[in-house]
Amino acid sequence: MKEFNNKFNKKIYHIVAFIVIAIMILGLVADNPRMGDFGAGYIFNLVLVLILSVCLLLYPRVDTYVHRVIITVISSVYFYTLFFLYPETWSNFIFLCLIPALSILFFDSRIFYFSLILNCVGSVLLFGYIAAVDHGLQYAYIQQDLIGNVINFFASQVVVFFIFFLTNGRIKKQQLYYEQIQQSGRLKITGQLAAAVAHEIRNPLTVVKGFLQLFEQDTSFSSSRKGQISLMIDELNTAEQVISQFLSVAKPEKENASETVEVRTVLQSVADLLYSYGLLHDNRIEVNVADNCHIAVNRLEFKQLLINIIKNAIEASKLGDIVQVAAAREKEFVSIKVTDQGRGMTESEVASLGTPFYSLKSKGTGLGMMICFEIVEKYKGTIHFETAIGHGTTVVIRFPAM
Ligand code: ADP
Ligand code: MG
Repeated sequence: MKEFNNKFNKKIYHIVAFIVIAIMILGLVADNPRMGDFGAGYIFNLVLVLILSVCLLLYPRVDTYVHRVIITVISSVYFYTLFFLYPETWSNFIFLCLIPALSILFFDSRIFYFSLILNCVGSVLLFGYIAAVDHGLQYAYIQQDLIGNVINFFASQVVVFFIFFLTNGRIKKQQLYYEQIQQSGRLKITGQLAAAVAHEIRNPLTVVKGFLQLFEQDTSFSSSRKGQISLMIDELNTAEQVISQFLSVAKPEKENASETVEVRTVLQSVADLLYSYGLLHDNRIEVNVADNCHIAVNRLEFKQLLINIIKNAIEASKLGDIVQVAAAREKEFVSIKVTDQGRGMTESEVASLGTPFYSLKSKGTGLGMMICFEIVEKYKGTIHFETAIGHGTTVVIRFPAM
């Protein structure tokens, strides 16, 4: 158990364990009606106190699943023994109601449910015994209102279950949060390292590309050799593109301050920028933006998001298709829709979007969507895809409106 790594917690545990053991011993010796006769019941009680004490003292060192189950079972048996051995002490009944609460401390749902079921079975036998055998002779306080006591007992089990359910849920959430923080810390370091490496790779690439460009113009090379050289330059261009896209994700935080951006101006400038790119395959971009669409984002990142999405739409389009870009206000959101009539995507393709280097294009980098997802998440937006194979795709992005 991680909490015992902390010396302070260990100390507290030992203090509590000693108090519990002292109370159990006190129960054995202080004015105990069974002490004088030293019968089998009393000895059984004594043995249980001994075993439970040893288990409790060993627990921080032997923190295994089996040990927890043993503690759960022995403490259940202990409380039922008290109940049967000392019928005059009616408050023992309270402990029976609380038995599963002890196992909450292990924060292990299997042990808790085991303890809860064990206790319910035990109580059925107990109430059965009182109704059928005892007839209220020793347990008059239960027999007098048997149904009421049964109801109260099961109500207490429901309450204990509810407490467990809520605390367990919260603890699981905290654990997840803790793991995520650790994970994001690791990712951050890996990201920084990778960015440094990417940056270092860019310089030699530029040098190699420069020489290859010189060779390409050299007349002493045969045309087939030149073809190979231009292929090499193409590949280097792809590598450069991957690196610059990658570096744009790993940019330091302070370059990315947000501001209030008017969607119309950015959309228009991106459409102008990609106009000639679209013309390569005779694709036009239609922009249709409603008034009053303002969002809080970093202008450059927002531009990059739109460029990536609209470029994908153009690349998916057939000759002569139109790419529609629309933005409108939807209550407290601004929605931006980029629609193409291109090839569309299957469900599994959509699920793969955002995975680094996932690309179905021969010259694709597979980083565009990953960057888009990061930007959308950063500004608390959402992105989803309405798509059907052969019918095209609509990418819907929503950001909180300003
Ligand atoms: P790249 O464009 O470099 O391939 P992206 O991350 O931008 O990388 O896109 C990943 C893949 O998602 C693309 O290769 C393509 O298969 C698919 N894709 C993205 N947008 C669309 C779209 N509008 N229509 C069809 N497929 C798309
Ligand atoms: Mg792309």
